[in-house]
Amino acid sequence: MDITSVTSYRAARTRADLALAPGEVVMAGGTWLMSELQPETTGFVDLTTLGWPDLEITDDGLRIGATCTIARLLAWVEREAPAEWTSLALARPAADALLASFKIWNTATVGGNVCRAFAAGAMIAFLSTLDATALVWTPDGGERRIAVAELVVDNAATSLAPGEVLRALDIPLTALTSRVALQKIALAELGRSGAVVTARVDPGGSSVFVVTAAVRRPRVLRFARIPGAGELRDAVASATDFYTDPLGSADWRRGVSVVLAERLRAGFAREAHEGAA
Ligand SMILES: Cc1cc2nc3c(=O)[nH]c(=O)nc-3n(C[C@H](O)[C@H](O)[C@H](O)COP(=O)(O)OP(=O)(O)OC[C@H]3O[C@@H](n4cnc5c(N)ncnc54)[C@H](O)[C@@H]3O)c2cc1C
Repeated sequence: MDITSVTSYRAARTRADLALAPGEVVMAGGTWLMSELQPETTGFVDLTTLGWPDLEITDDGLRIGATCTIARLLAWVEREAPAEWTSLALARPAADALLASFKIWNTATVGGNVCRAFAAGAMIAFLSTLDATALVWTPDGGERRIAVAELVVDNAATSLAPGEVLRALDIPLTALTSRVALQKIALAELGRSGAVVTARVDPGGSSVFVVTAAVRRPRVLRFARIPGAGELRDAVASATDFYTDPLGSADWRRGVSVVLAERLRAGFAREAHEGAA
């Protein structure tokens, strides 16, 4: 795609370089920015030249640099991550839910996926399920933290203010050793997901179910244990922001989200039963 409105490019080297001139936007992998016309944009400021570490094990858990590519995250999870961090297994099926598959995730960044904030944001499903928080740099030189599930406020909209930059995504230790699973459905075999439901069951028995793609923003449902079928069905179905687009109607999205959530619930309940027997 020729982005004809853009006449300047700057490689950011320091935080001061992130002060944006009118018409400038920050660019990470550029897979979305370069995929369609950007009539309001006259300049790109490249974040990938800031040298942020891709992945850091901290005292509190795992930090993913916003410019870490989805491909790098997957490779690290599958070859280098601590074996006891079982929850990271969710990264692969979440990335597989990306419509454009490996061609996009080789360049697309984890932070770019979150900031683009599409309802079918693969990394949003992954990170919301693992209770990740976003570290946001504010233009005054400060920073703020917000849950990824709350940073996304609508389909293709975040609470990032002008000039704010996502620096990193932090997954807490408490969410890294859980059991996880994902279910998804798309109207077309290789089409964008119409509904994605992810779930996590912690060693203590509490559970989290997250609906994405079917609703305009992540719907995070928390339970002190694995919920009963009716309790989960009511919690999923009561969302008010199921939406209609060419990839599915709101009613269909509600119906299939309930079914996908129940499949996850039943699988976890069966495992718990077998473990106790
Ligand atoms: C064919 C195709 C299929 C796609 N399929 C999907 C899909 O299924 N699901 C999906 O979610 N997306 C999809 N996308 C959109 C996009 O490619 C992905 O969301 C990708 O992960 C964006 O990451 P990026 O690093 O390339 O972001 P960029 O294109 O560089 O940036 C995306 C947006 O985020 C902003 N941004 C990026 N990084 C930061 C940061 N650190 N701080 C603040 N703002 C930032 C940019 O200014 C821009 O507005 C698709 C795109 C194409 C072309």
